[in-house]
Amino acid sequence: MIEQLDATKEFDICIIGGGATGLGIAVDAASRGCKTVLLEKYDFAKGTSSRSTKLVHGGVRYLQQGNIKLVMEALKERGLLKKNAPHLVKNQSFVIPNYKWWENSFYGIGLKVYDWMAGSLGLGPSKFLSKEETLALAPNLDEDGLRGGVLYHDGQFDDARLAIHLAMTAADHGAVVINYMSVEGLMKQNGIVCGVKAIDTINNKEFEIKTKAVINATGIFSDSIAKMDDPKSEPLISHSQGIHLVFDKEFLLSDTAIMIPRTDDGRVLFAVPWHNKIIIGTTDTPVSSASEEPIAMKEEIEFVMQHIHRYLKKDPSYDDVRSVFAGIRPLVKSNSKITSAISRDHHISVSDSELISITGGKWTTYRKMAEDVMEIAIHKAGMSEKECVTKNLHVHGYKENNNYNAPLYYYGTDKNEIDSLIKTDPSLAELVHPSLPYIKAEIIWAVQNEMCMTVEDALARRTRALLLDAKAATGSAPLVANMIAKEMDKDHEWITGQINNFNLIAKNYLPNY
Ligand SMILES: Cc1cc2nc3c(=O)[nH]c(=O)nc-3n(C[C@H](O)[C@H](O)[C@H](O)COP(=O)(O)OP(=O)(O)OC[C@H]3O[C@@H](n4cnc5c(N)ncnc54)[C@H](O)[C@@H]3O)c2cc1C
Repeated sequence: MIEQLDATKEFDICIIGGGATGLGIAVDAASRGCKTVLLEKYDFAKGTSSRSTKLVHGGVRYLQQGNIKLVMEALKERGLLKKNAPHLVKNQSFVIPNYKWWENSFYGIGLKVYDWMAGSLGLGPSKFLSKEETLALAPNLDEDGLRGGVLYHDGQFDDARLAIHLAMTAADHGAVVINYMSVEGLMKQNGIVCGVKAIDTINNKEFEIKTKAVINATGIFSDSIAKMDDPKSEPLISHSQGIHLVFDKEFLLSDTAIMIPRTDDGRVLFAVPWHNKIIIGTTDTPVSSASEEPIAMKEEIEFVMQHIHRYLKKDPSYDDVRSVFAGIRPLVKSNSKITSAISRDHHISVSDSELISITGGKWTTYRKMAEDVMEIAIHKAGMSEKECVTKNLHVHGYKENNNYNAPLYYYGTDKNEIDSLIKTDPSLAELVHPSLPYIKAEIIWAVQNEMCMTVEDALARRTRALLLDAKAATGSAPLVANMIAKEMDKDHEWITGQINNFNLIAKNYLPNY
């Protein structure tokens, strides 16, 4: 990729940021036939895009808020993503338990509207449930006062895995996509942005990259890029933190997720099965600044614990927490003091020097966000009209009728290649740790094919070990560091540095009480 970067005189589109937003734009731009480069400071999805609730959803909560346009758009995108990445997006059923007399008809009717809005892209009809039916689907729900429930469907995915597959899709269509390449400044000609200055942080090498248009897709870091353009620019972003706690599956006892429709702060809380664990969240805590490694606050952890104790028969304790992860939402700046009331719509702005910034949005709507921003970027780049093709574009690894219970299902068609690695060396079928579902072949595959550069890349985003079980992930770090070092010809000092770095990060995924 770096050789391609060196060999290209001028790109059409340069995207800063390799999260859902930036990667979606790279796929859109490259598949329209634009000469595209994407630069990511750390690793793909290192920011917010690996820290979501893992739902591809219209957003039942936004329906409650009356944001019909956002829900309609997200439901349409949910259907398109399920169609184009069936190896990664699965149909997830949810139960909303009802404890008050009015709740069944209130949520039941609301979800019928949700079904109707999804139209032909719906994932299955919602249904009123009796108390017995509700408990059959969610056996660990507190029975005391339970009246019944409502069943509905949304999509579920692995966020970082989709990010990696989007990077690969963009590359499959000719884009140059590079991680560990930090944009440090903008180049201008006659006051108009015409390129970026970037540093390859692994080899410590500087680059000046010429391009017809620059898109700032750096999520919670958008203001730092806007300031490179104009130090006096007004803030684009409000930051709001959300956390999730991860527990063993025994606290859900079923493949049906639970949605608690109203928390004390008027939000919803999800308990969703994911890679044979459950993730429970989230919170909405305004924070003043961006961080690439946000840390869950004690009050946030307590908030989630209090709510699940209210709704579950068998209560998890703090010792049962396998991991806690935090992410920060890049919300479009608004005057509202309550971040949960700020719209999840996306917003595109163009500065006087024609830096294009895209902020807000959701993972679910990344494709539409990319389409919208590219319509503007093509115009700004002075290029002739090129049609967007992503509505029907398969994501890398595309595989129909995927068995979501089969090992390595999330690689889609790449699974065959991983199987071939194991055929050449059967020891690669061994687990990296007895408490983790990942095998050694996945690490080798990631280093050889998915631009995995560090132990953290391998354990946080190529596999999801850090999010599933932080202690086990720490235990596997020495083995993984040695494997990567062998593949990349690194020395002992590199190995020690990598293990130490990973341990420092992983410490914050194990709550301290
Ligand atoms: C708790 C939580 C739960 C959520 N749950 C859901 C959900 O279930 N479903 C859903 O649809 N959405 C969900 N979202 C929203 C969704 O995750 C975000 O909207 C989306 O991930 C934002 O992606 P992004 O690319 O804009 O930002 P990011 O993923 O943060 O990407 C920005 C990237 O820019 C890079 N960058 C920064 N500065 C530079 C630089 N100078 N040079 C190069 N690169 C740079 C960063 O390293 C980062 O990787 C959730 C969000 C949160 C916080």
